[in-house]
Amino acid sequence: MTTKQAPSTLQKMGLDSPMALALHLPARYEDETELLTIEEAIAQGRFNSAQTQGVVIRNQVLFRPRRQMVVTIEDDTETLNLRFLNFYPSQQKQMAVGVNIRVRGEVREGFQGPEMVHPTVRAVAPDAPLPASLTPVYPASVGVSQTIIRKAVTQALRDPSLQDSLAEFLPKKLMVEMLPGNDWPNLQAAITYLHQPPADANTQALLDRTHPAWRRVQFEELLAQQISLKRAHAIRRERHAPSFPKEKKQSFEEGLLKVLPFKLTQAQERVWSEISHDLSKSFPMNRLLQGDVGSGKTVVAALAAARVMDHGYQAAIMAPTEILAEQHYLKMKEWFEPLGVQIAWLSGSLKVKEKRHAQEAIENGKAQLIIGTHALIQESVSFAKLGLAVIDEQHRFGVRQRLEIQQRVGSELFYCHQLMMSATPIPRTLAMTYYADLDVSVIDELPPGRKPIATKVVKASRRDEVISGLQSWLSKGLQAYWVCPLIEESEVLQLQTAVESFEQLTQALPDFKVGLVHGRLKAEEKAAVMAAFKSNEIQLLVATTVIEVGVDVPNAALMVIEHAERFGYAQIHQLRGRVGRGSADSVCILMYAEPLSLAAKERLQTLRETSDGFVIAERDLSLRGPGELLGAKQSGDAMLRFVDLQRDAWLIELAQQAAERLLAEHADLVERHLERWLGSRAEFLKA
Ligand code: ADP
Ligand code: MG
Repeated sequence: MTTKQAPSTLQKMGLDSPMALALHLPARYEDETELLTIEEAIAQGRFNSAQTQGVVIRNQVLFRPRRQMVVTIEDDTETLNLRFLNFYPSQQKQMAVGVNIRVRGEVREGFQGPEMVHPTVRAVAPDAPLPASLTPVYPASVGVSQTIIRKAVTQALRDPSLQDSLAEFLPKKLMVEMLPGNDWPNLQAAITYLHQPPADANTQALLDRTHPAWRRVQFEELLAQQISLKRAHAIRRERHAPSFPKEKKQSFEEGLLKVLPFKLTQAQERVWSEISHDLSKSFPMNRLLQGDVGSGKTVVAALAAARVMDHGYQAAIMAPTEILAEQHYLKMKEWFEPLGVQIAWLSGSLKVKEKRHAQEAIENGKAQLIIGTHALIQESVSFAKLGLAVIDEQHRFGVRQRLEIQQRVGSELFYCHQLMMSATPIPRTLAMTYYADLDVSVIDELPPGRKPIATKVVKASRRDEVISGLQSWLSKGLQAYWVCPLIEESEVLQLQTAVESFEQLTQALPDFKVGLVHGRLKAEEKAAVMAAFKSNEIQLLVATTVIEVGVDVPNAALMVIEHAERFGYAQIHQLRGRVGRGSADSVCILMYAEPLSLAAKERLQTLRETSDGFVIAERDLSLRGPGELLGAKQSGDAMLRFVDLQRDAWLIELAQQAAERLLAEHADLVERHLERWLGSRAEFLKA
């Protein structure tokens, strides 16, 4: 029966070919190469897994305190109890009196002497040979046992086709020159070693994945990634996009600079000239504009849009949330409507008729500037003449959505210029891997007059103190935010908590007007509350995380975040960026409830000590891995499987150089290498 089930379960895990099985590398190993006497196993004590064997001399089912099976085994040296709190009748049979069994587990002191709880058990002849290699433990999923995977892998490793799939084709000369004195095995040897390490292997290096056999595999994987990124880079340069050089007549560009109530900072000038340079090229721009919260990225995007519109093309600005998109819409209206620009708004929540109206204007070219959520990339939207797509906070779109954006924006119809914007800096390792085909501009200067934000970390039990502090703050004529706890599991519960806080604060602060804004409000209602806050009719704004992005009220320089321990690094960093925009000294109070996990403690501490987006992003990366930062939570597939960007950072550089040489000197090998490593995953890496 198992043989019938096994293939389909393995297939579901993607283990459908000898190559896939060969690359399904162990997560860890068990040492079954050593057999101790029972006496030795007992002496070795707790916390050390031991393998021993003996003959069953007793097999009892006890009912105190609950149903359990206790089996006693014996060898020439000692006796040992094995305790099973759950067991099947088949196990009772397997461990019948008189049978010789081999067991693995930790020995600890039980009520009736030394015992193993739930050891692994095999019935074998006393002189059954011991394995020569460590026993691999594979990543598994429900319904597929280690035995099945081990069998399948062993079989796969013997498959003649593997000779070919794992054949060495990295030129020896290249390897020697790149890695003088390296002790890496060739690929096939490395893979075999990892599946069947000899008894004397350095298990720590295997576990840490720093063993030369691992290095070899990691290097190959990185090499494939580097090659595919370099190819994407080359392909982009061969594509054609309309070029938008700086013209004599620049009505929108000049007009915008005149309308702005401020002067660009030096950093803004610099990034704008980088973008302007890209736009003048006849291949698509692929640039990330990176700048901390509040650094003024929006106006740079507006300048790029103005340039494109000056050439008679459309520009689109897309944001991951409705609120953020709406903020852009309002800003662009303020800046561009006086110049006579036709602006269209498109989001999922529009009524059918409004949506159709917007789509028409986009299609017939009446709309020059189009702003919206990812509703912009739906099939039903076709642009008359799109020249530029701006994607704000692109890492917050899902992987699917990003792939869709790439496919739409990069489709045969129009290879338009792309500008991505993010407040989350890309750590160097990520920039060299997933984002290698991306040019980056950095705004490293905040607009003048910004104040540093003092961050305080306070226990929730001091809530009353916080509220009376708030009272004296508001008495000075200043405003404040009160951010409600994030409750990811339940929007309803989150709303309820927000309402409770709102009511409590309204009562506690009778002299001030308290407002409430949350995700369930209609767009107009939200806008009304925000407007009232902006005009200081409301002094204290109680909010769920809807204010995370885009809100701009300089007189609000205090923020209290309730249950700050539930928020991630990036969220608090973004939230906190809402204060510190006016002339008053700004304060952010992170209120936390106990008990605090170690990770949360470290997070709050870091946030108190620094407001440097770079430091925060690095910590974030080391904590969560690149997946979430890339917005790729769901796409384990797109990730490097064997490489850890932090641990293996030095390898990236090596792979980068090797990829360059391989492309230049051995173009014929490149396809084969990519196919081996990426197969169908190659598409994902582009997103
Ligand atoms: P972010 O980079 O976080 O998207 P915004 O573009 O929203 O930041 O800018 C934050 C605030 O700073 C906005 O109110 C914007 O109008 C203002 N701002 C942008 N550039 C400047 C500047 N050079 N001088 C003064 N204020 C600026
Ligand atoms: Mg922004």
